[in-house]
Amino acid sequence: MTERTDGGEGQRNDPRSAELAERLAAVRKRIAAAAESAGRGDRLPSLIVVTKFHAAEDIRRLAALGITDVGENRDQEAAAKALELADLALTWHFVGQLQTKKAKSVARYAAAVHSVDRPQLVDALAKAARNGMDATGRAPLDCFIQVSLEDDGGTHRGGAAPADVPLLAERIAAADGLNLAGVMAVAPLGAPPGPAFEKLAGVSARLVADYPGASGISAGMSQDLEAAIMFGATHLRIGSDILGSRPAVG
Ligand SMILES: *Cc1c(COP(=O)(O)O)cnc(C)c1O
Repeated sequence: MTERTDGGEGQRNDPRSAELAERLAAVRKRIAAAAESAGRGDRLPSLIVVTKFHAAEDIRRLAALGITDVGENRDQEAAAKALELADLALTWHFVGQLQTKKAKSVARYAAAVHSVDRPQLVDALAKAARNGMDATGRAPLDCFIQVSLEDDGGTHRGGAAPADVPLLAERIAAADGLNLAGVMAVAPLGAPPGPAFEKLAGVSARLVADYPGASGISAGMSQDLEAAIMFGATHLRIGSDILGSRPAVG
């Protein structure tokens, strides 16, 4: 019998699917335990599986395992996968640094951008999303403001300074094609994630005071999902603990 890996009937016998199912179950268990100890066992965060560098076939396997939300960080790769997997009802999240000139492409397949960090990008995304709404009736694009949590005020891992969040929020909220969804951050390297996510929770609280609908907190990766949940993450972005280490890029 030839082994099928196309997500059809043969998938049940596919060793990679079994591996993904096992890793996914382990991550879901961690999420449930963390939510329980944070006293929010009844409000689990959404799980976005970050599939960058992994084959579209793995996304198909994940969809068969019940995953609905996937994240990518490079437009070219994401656009190709979204096209290839257009038969699946997936929600695509763009989570990487984004050049303004790529906004138009990203708005074609993404429902959300988690890395909005400057006014020019807001304007480019708004224009692209508005055109998409006119042409295809798509919903407004969810925008998370990426916040830099580095102590030195640097932006090594991307993101706007916390002080710049109000102006970005105003610009997103005023844009027709965009929906202000909340804040996003990546924990700084080489520092415990807890204090960083606590700081993000503060930024979020100030944002929500002005924009009650913008209550999303996109935080938490494989290494720090517990700390993120402790400080209110609503959207986790998990890659390697579900898919395994990323293939090296050439
Ligand atoms: C790659 C990536 C993730 C997932 O990271 P893992 O450590 O593999 O879980 C999450 N967020 C962003 C912005 C990423 O680029």
